[in-house]
Amino acid sequence: MKGNLLIISGPSGSGKGYIASKLIENYNNFSLSISATTRNIRPGEVDGINYFYKTREEFEEMIKNGELLEYAEFVGNYYGTPKQFVLDKINMGQNVLLEIEMQGALKVKEIFPDALLIFIAIPSLDELKYRLKNRGRESDEDIEKRIKQAKVDISYADKYDYVVMNDDINKVMNDFEQIINGSFSKEESNKNLQILKNIAEEIN
Ligand code: 5GP
Repeated sequence: MKGNLLIISGPSGSGKGYIASKLIENYNNFSLSISATTRNIRPGEVDGINYFYKTREEFEEMIKNGELLEYAEFVGNYYGTPKQFVLDKINMGQNVLLEIEMQGALKVKEIFPDALLIFIAIPSLDELKYRLKNRGRESDEDIEKRIKQAKVDISYADKYDYVVMNDDINKVMNDFEQIINGSFSKEESNKNLQILKNIAEEIN
């Protein structure tokens, strides 16, 4: 049997990266896809573990050679999913986890209609601001940009199969378990979607 794809997206600061790492830790039949990007490497990141870091020329060569399943530009940099890794894993019956932004996620869904798209929600705008500030990675100006971007991001949430609230990691893992076995409540997902829409309304 072929493996499937689980795609996680969410606004910057929603904690999607941490959730992806926890899922990989908990499920041995899931492999994390490592994306290619042209953005600069951040302190603590490792080439080949967090991303494959490429120049724009190298990345454009990958596009030309059809090596990417999807790619998108996000705040001035290219990000893309290497195709071969994903195909090899699903052909071997392994599931693949992608942590990518919305346009890429929707492209993958067109190619693999069975892929599960999961949007990570945050409980409130204050909490989003707090998380972005607290991780100390971005300047105030950058945080403002990411909050504005969150409004755009949230506008894609109703195209996702499920919306999961990230307020307690154990609950999140439980929700993913239910998504994987098909028992996650659509009602809860819709409630989380509504919370996100209210947050988007607050952002001007
Ligand atoms: P960051 O620079 O913070 O690591 O990632 C920026 C955004 O790019 C995040 O929303 C992340 O999910 C997204 N991203 C990472 N890899 C890919 C990819 O391969 N394709 C697409 N479309 N988005 C990606």
